[in-house]
Amino acid sequence: MSLLSICDVRKSFGSNLVLDGFSLEVDEGDCVVLIGASGSGKSTLLRCVNLLEVVDDGVIELDGIDITDPRANADRIRSGIGIVFQAYNLFPHLSVLDNVTLAPVRVHRIRRDVARARALDMLERVGLADKASARPDELSGGQQQRAAIARALVNSPSLMLLDEVTSALDPELVGEVLDLLRELKDDGMTMLICTHEMGFARSVADKICFLDNGRPLEVGPPSQVLENPVEPRTREFLRRIR
Ligand code: ADP
Ligand code: MG
Repeated sequence: MSLLSICDVRKSFGSNLVLDGFSLEVDEGDCVVLIGASGSGKSTLLRCVNLLEVVDDGVIELDGIDITDPRANADRIRSGIGIVFQAYNLFPHLSVLDNVTLAPVRVHRIRRDVARARALDMLERVGLADKASARPDELSGGQQQRAAIARALVNSPSLMLLDEVTSALDPELVGEVLDLLRELKDDGMTMLICTHEMGFARSVADKICFLDNGRPLEVGPPSQVLENPVEPRTREFLRRIR
């Protein structure tokens, strides 16, 4: 069964129809990569899954629960989903450890000592145990992004959403973040990722979804969508970004 099931989702901003009956299945443990031109709706889709946007129509199920039901408990659902954006979004005035501990303590009312122990585990996991007391501006961009990933992992989410998490990084720092995502995949994490890193997509994704005009135009394994795309628009997109 799919862990995440997106079914016929519609989303407009005013007269701008961004998601036009979008459907996609993400199986447990799979890494699904969304590709598509800028403005094609990739971020909007991730934001709908994390309930940062309300869908106009359609259903999104996570672990069999309809999270688009207005009666659903949005805070509980969000705590089961980790999300990381392009810009690191760490609080600049807090230490790395406090950044990772903040939500568990404030939002989820977890005891501070328990939350700190868990946060330290996560920092260890992303290779930043020695930076726990540093401020974000004392870290490289790659380290900041790994801290943001640790923060997203601290609630033991069943799903990670990653929106162009390497796009703002200097080229030499991209690899360390992609390596971490690769490790998470190897550990069995289910991930839905927007990225322009085609080498990563080719080697890690179980499924690639090419978004076009708010629809999943071509979906399949990298060997199909990236190497032998059927749709002319997929071919055109890949030619442009290569
Ligand atoms: P992508 O991530 O693929 O570049 P986005 O999901 O960010 O695309 O944007 C898709 C479209 O939705 C764009 O036309 C964008 O201008 C529009 N859009 C996104 N978020 C908002 C918003 N909060 N308000 C109005 N329009 C938005
Ligand atoms: Mg985007």
